[in-house]
Amino acid sequence: MTGCAAALRLAEAGQKVRLHDAREIAGGASGRNGGFALRGGAAPFDVTAEAIGLENAVSLWRRTEQTLDRLEELAGDAFARTGSLRLAADEEERDELAVELDALRASGFAAEWIDEPLGGRFRAAILHPPDAALQPARWVRRLAVCAAEAGVEIREHSRVDSLADVDAGQVVVATDGYPSGLLGELEGLIVPTRGQMLATEPVAERLFDLPHYGRHGFDYWQQRPDGRILAGGFRDSALHEEFTTEETITAAIQGALESFVADLVGRSLRVDYRWAGLFGLVMDFLPVVGRVPDEEDVWVAGGYSGHGNVLGLLCGELVADAMLGHEVPELALFAPARLLG
Ligand SMILES: Cc1cc2nc3c(=O)[nH]c(=O)nc-3n(C[C@H](O)[C@H](O)[C@H](O)COP(=O)(O)OP(=O)(O)OC[C@H]3O[C@@H](n4cnc5c(N)ncnc54)[C@H](O)[C@@H]3O)c2cc1C
Repeated sequence: MTGCAAALRLAEAGQKVRLHDAREIAGGASGRNGGFALRGGAAPFDVTAEAIGLENAVSLWRRTEQTLDRLEELAGDAFARTGSLRLAADEEERDELAVELDALRASGFAAEWIDEPLGGRFRAAILHPPDAALQPARWVRRLAVCAAEAGVEIREHSRVDSLADVDAGQVVVATDGYPSGLLGELEGLIVPTRGQMLATEPVAERLFDLPHYGRHGFDYWQQRPDGRILAGGFRDSALHEEFTTEETITAAIQGALESFVADLVGRSLRVDYRWAGLFGLVMDFLPVVGRVPDEEDVWVAGGYSGHGNVLGLLCGELVADAMLGHEVPELALFAPARLLG
């Protein structure tokens, strides 16, 4: 997604652009994710405001809300403006959500409080009205079509092993959690992290109208229009094992997901699909976007910490603007050099 978004923006500005992907369009996390299109960053609003200052957090949240509007415009029927439900599993998480709700409202963001949602199974929830459910692979393929129509040459199954082999004035490495081998000292500081998911058989009843996520985002699920329940998470049940580049499923996490869904729905469901993907985790939960330190013509955009559906589009466009020589003040917060400390 990031690569296609950057390529489209550059081509629209009249640049000659070539996009290489080691796999195919949407072959990485962009085609394997939970389809949650959420405003904001990877950490809660109040926590982010504490870390980067209220003004910066407000402008990041506003930018992502604008990006959701742009996503809606571009993604067509791959996008549904459902809102999302951020759930509290226990009293402690409920208290955290109450603080976040106050902070959001004090800064003028729409957010609603719900007590005891899902029949009291959870303590509380925040409804985030601007959020959406995405069919991510369909959306990214659509974005790639827009890029191709704007003149981007797309080369699939074309891994770049060395930047010296790329005949280009400027390069952006947009591989998020997939190690590219192209980032020098930055390599590995956007930590490859595995996420696992499953999709059940179609369920006739409409049980969930919008994406749900709880336990600090460790559990997430939504019901697709075809009735299938898509669930992911439980990374925390084997946290260390999930810091890996092995894109395989494991019995422990798949078992935990399956029982979780059975418990949610009240019966066991057949699982039709299981898969894993990689995302790039950054210790301060902020994206990594800008010029690669000590490189004049190499840029990076990634590190969305599992929150890349909206940030990927935004950061792809921001990095392209910077490559075009525009002032992009937003990038001050995302500077890659900060990871080198
Ligand atoms: C299971 C899972 C669930 C997730 N759920 C959500 C969610 O619900 N909401 C959300 O916002 N985010 C979610 N994310 C995160 C989100 O999917 C990613 O942050 C986002 O898709 C990153 O997009 P990208 O275009 O930057 O990278 P990717 O889509 O990962 O694409 C990177 C591409 O780089 C290619 N590549 C790597 N090295 C090279 C090389 N040397 N040469 C050429 N190509 C190379 C790879 O083949 C890959 O196709 C999830 C991630 C996972 C894994």
